Amino acid sequence: MDFSEKARELIREQIGEWDLAAKNYDSLKKIKVKTFDYGNYRIDIQFNPERIVSSAAKVDAKSIEARPCFLCEKNRPTVQRGLCFKNEYIVLVNPFPIFPEHLTIPNISHVDQLILGNFGSILDLAVGLDDFVIFYNGPKCGASAPDHLHFQAGIKGFLPIEADFSNKKCCQVVRRIGNVTISHWPDYQRGIISLNSKNKDNLIECFNQIYSRLQLLQPNETEPMLNILAIFEHGEWIIHIFPRLLHRPAQYFETGEKQLVLSPASVDMGGVLITPREEDFIKIMKDDIKDIFNQVCIESHDILTIINQL
Ligand SMILES: [Zn+2]
Repeated sequence: MDFSEKARELIREQIGEWDLAAKNYDSLKKIKVKTFDYGNYRIDIQFNPERIVSSAAKVDAKSIEARPCFLCEKNRPTVQRGLCFKNEYIVLVNPFPIFPEHLTIPNISHVDQLILGNFGSILDLAVGLDDFVIFYNGPKCGASAPDHLHFQAGIKGFLPIEADFSNKKCCQVVRRIGNVTISHWPDYQRGIISLNSKNKDNLIECFNQIYSRLQLLQPNETEPMLNILAIFEHGEWIIHIFPRLLHRPAQYFETGEKQLVLSPASVDMGGVLITPREEDFIKIMKDDIKDIFNQVCIESHDILTIINQL
């Protein structure tokens, strides 16, 4: 059994022995999904009440400091078992799934959620867990534990962006730097920088360059706001970087009719928007999605400028 199969086996076992996981994976099967068709691509909306824990998570420094870290081993439920990855990470079942197979992968140490210096880990995890898409939410872009370095992984074939990248209807190659091919998405609502390469060192170098450009745009942030998806297939990595302007859109902070509790992170960027409240699932329309992406992402024209400056 390879590592990816072991992780899938762990999910099956944990569903059999952990009530919370059993209940939430079972609920996921009956969950409501609706789809918006945009011609060349689609966006799914998933009504997932259990995700309120993450969508409405308080991630300000004071709240974080006041709670026991749920990713540290000493605070995790004893029933939650894990698989060790390279003596650095522990692969756990996510008990609040969005994907039919969903993992949380904390570092074994309680260190800050920062991608600089850890981008190589997401590449390694993509290889080790090649049945999965690996993702990273920045400390201000959806990570519910901004104080503990972690990734997540969801089974392949679930996020619309995977097929959208393969069929090339919405993205085009705009540059090549060393062995890295860079693609741009001109008409996809979200500004994305996509990289593909078989060369790990070149990818890390290219990512670091992008990081530096983004840092110039947000000099006051600890790290430039971003989400990342990483996939390994046919011997190469595919990386999607979503530079962000905002954590949560204005609708999140509204009250009454105008409120939409939607806190976008990597999964939403990949084309599956999570609404933990049924009223939002029912009322959300195409125009809301366009408006939300417009607020939280950098627009595609500006992304192209960033790519051209590399
Ligand atoms: Zn911790």
